[in-house]
Amino acid sequence: MADPAECTIKVMCRFRPLNSSEVVRGDRYIPKFQGDETVVIGGKPYVFDRVFQSNTTQEQVYNACAQKIVKDVLEGYNGTIFAYGQTSSGKTHTMEGNLHDTDSMGIIPRIVQDIFNYIYSMDENLEFHIKVMVYHVNFSLSFFLSSAVSKTNLSVHEDKNRVPYVKGCTERFVCSPDEVMDTIDEGKSNRHVAVTNMNEHSSRSHSIFLINVKQENTQTEQKLSGKLYLVDLAGSEKVSKTGAEGAVLDEAKNINKSLSSLGNVISALAEGTAYIPYRDSKMTRILQDSLGGNCRTTIVICCSPSSYNEAETKSTLMFGQRAK
Ligand code: ADP
Ligand code: MG
Repeated sequence: MADPAECTIKVMCRFRPLNSSEVVRGDRYIPKFQGDETVVIGGKPYVFDRVFQSNTTQEQVYNACAQKIVKDVLEGYNGTIFAYGQTSSGKTHTMEGNLHDTDSMGIIPRIVQDIFNYIYSMDENLEFHIKVMVYHVNFSLSFFLSSAVSKTNLSVHEDKNRVPYVKGCTERFVCSPDEVMDTIDEGKSNRHVAVTNMNEHSSRSHSIFLINVKQENTQTEQKLSGKLYLVDLAGSEKVSKTGAEGAVLDEAKNINKSLSSLGNVISALAEGTAYIPYRDSKMTRILQDSLGGNCRTTIVICCSPSSYNEAETKSTLMFGQRAK
């Protein structure tokens, strides 16, 4: 049984390898690692629950970051796993990886597999209902978020089979890992269509994947429900670096604001403050029942190892430190 008194926010830090264009440019590899918990940048040590060097496998990251949370969710707890970092630091690689390849798959497909393996191993008296949802949230689409919270003003449409769906949000009961992967792929292409239709220039958005597990013992009628949010956050880079203007700049500012609200909520939770500012952003409102309390929260801070990105990497590491 999970221990409710146990520290519920864990901060992990992952460095990707230098990529080929960084190597060609002659960038230096800047992190120095000390043990499993400390990384030193520019002489300054940053300590986390765990630090992953560039050669860490997807399986090792999963085992350290997610395996325990999955167990807790199956016992009826809620949880959230975030990937935070600048664009191209490895957030999507960490959360999704290659959805259809056993070695390179990331945290989400491994969680889905583990949950279904657990279900397949249980006896017949247990009935499971697995529901997944995919949201893509940016400034222009942010009304999807607020409506999903309040359950009013939903922009509801019907698909060609007259099945109603919420625009920008794919919700589905699923019976196998493959169905979950299909839902994620579909969410991606819906987002692509939405972005194209709105003449969107920016690809910055938060991707939120929710898996909800309900189980009922048909003999004892005992019920358990747990849910897990898996969030691939929008890139955390400074607005100035992106060279954005006009609507794109507004959107970038909004994304940065939602990231700093998230930082405020997480550091308030880490400090144990009585007041947690969940209401300051739509994303934290939606995640409210899965962040804090005795919910399981893990943040994976994703970093580039290149000297070119040193300033962004330091600010990413500082974000992670605030959660400790
Ligand atoms: P982000 O989602 O933060 O923008 P990505 O996950 O898309 O970044 O990563 C950028 C690129 O670097 C991708 O091509 C990805 O495959 C690669 N990459 C990221 N992390 C790793 C890693 N740990 N090992 C190998 N390649 C990686
Ligand atoms: Mg990404």
